[in-house]
Amino acid sequence: MEHSSVTPTQAPEKLTFFGQVNRMFNKAAAYTKHPEGLLKQIKACNSVYRMEYPLQREDGSIDVIQAYRAEHSQHKLPTKGGIRYEAHVNEDEVMALSALMTYKCAVVDVPFGGAKGGIKIDHRDYSEVELERITRRYAFELTRKNFIGPGIDVPAPDYGTGPREMAWILDTYNSLADDTLNALACVTGKPVGQGGVRGRTQATGLGVYYGVREACRFTDDMEKMGLEQGVEGKTVVVQGLGNVGYFAAKFLQEGGATIVGLAEIEGSIYNPEGLNLDDVVDHRKSTGSILDYPGAQNIKNSAEALELPCNILVPAALGGVITMENAPRIQADIIAEAANGPVTSQADAYLLEKNVLIIPDVYLNAGGVTVSYFEWLRNLSHVRHGRMSKRFEERNAERILRAVEKLSDTTFKEDRFDKVVSEIAFGASEQDLVNSGLEDTMAYAYQEIRAIRLEHNVDLRTAAFISAINKVATSYKQMGIFP
Ligand code: GLU
Repeated sequence: MEHSSVTPTQAPEKLTFFGQVNRMFNKAAAYTKHPEGLLKQIKACNSVYRMEYPLQREDGSIDVIQAYRAEHSQHKLPTKGGIRYEAHVNEDEVMALSALMTYKCAVVDVPFGGAKGGIKIDHRDYSEVELERITRRYAFELTRKNFIGPGIDVPAPDYGTGPREMAWILDTYNSLADDTLNALACVTGKPVGQGGVRGRTQATGLGVYYGVREACRFTDDMEKMGLEQGVEGKTVVVQGLGNVGYFAAKFLQEGGATIVGLAEIEGSIYNPEGLNLDDVVDHRKSTGSILDYPGAQNIKNSAEALELPCNILVPAALGGVITMENAPRIQADIIAEAANGPVTSQADAYLLEKNVLIIPDVYLNAGGVTVSYFEWLRNLSHVRHGRMSKRFEERNAERILRAVEKLSDTTFKEDRFDKVVSEIAFGASEQDLVNSGLEDTMAYAYQEIRAIRLEHNVDLRTAAFISAINKVATSYKQMGIFP
């Protein structure tokens, strides 16, 4: 592991979020041999569309909505990335997040450039009708300025958005675009039935699980922290029960980990004996709060949950939650960055020195965009994954079983044969294919960055950035732009 000498007493973090991403980039770039100009181009955020437009509220008043779309890199097209609805959205943040998308796509070999959008609103302050107006106008602006399209820039859900918003965007784009044949592929994360792919909703959380599982698979790495191999038996704290956090917690729990802490906006709960995730979610639904869950200890200041004793800490809400202020009190052995940018660059350096294994966002939460890629492919091919092969695979397995029967000169008992057939002779459904593609992507990418980590004796984030820089640089070189 590379060690830095940052201590908690050093100057406060002054860099903007984009500045922090670039700092991580620079650290990794030092391990590559690309020309300075090429590195500068890779880092640059190519275009930002900043817009302000009026919203007539249901009470008749007018709000001015501020929104952005940043396209960081067109080295591969389309550019890709979510749209967040959040009260602190700003230009620097969308630029930083779009850059992370570029590197993220490269790390998991998803052939897109990076982009990100944001609307500066607290989505809870607006009615559904108002949210629809805000979203449709945003999609209209993007369409008019050529900032959206199946081969141009393809948005997706992010913090505060979901399939509903994606359906509004699709409908608006559809009503304006010339290219109606491929219009479905202008946005991903759509509802199934509107061109969405099965498995997209849980994809980021499932990807987080596959990534954590892969990291815990290496005995050497676990032993360095005094841990046993595998996810099973590890204690977990998750911050954020949104789409990403909920599914990450769910799959980790199903994988044998114990969820000991859960944090939400209203507070956090802790029970070292374990919490039942779905029970907690039901409790929150019926009482309106995660607090006062039977058997658990309340933590009123929600952020303190990050400091609870656990093996795996999963920040799955917003960025910048682990800083030099709280880093010295973090007790986790592993930080699994399900959110984008949860650990500031100084806190990152400090925690690495403390031997904490940080599984970086730029790899770990790539499950969302990976499955978005599968959705985009489905939309362009106009066929559900597995539709052509499912029945064929099923019959083929039956034929193999019959051949085994013939070759072994026996006659299988029909009832047992049927049972075996039902167990093994099935064709892959769309969901099976999506999950398998996701699992393979996450496992392969981890092995790739782990190998770079060992080669250069660096942390995983630096390794992921080195991997991304090399891949993006290769793209530019293949375009003949750089020597
Ligand atoms: N918003 C997600 C992310 O940050 C998904 C992006 C996508 O699917 O394009 O990775």
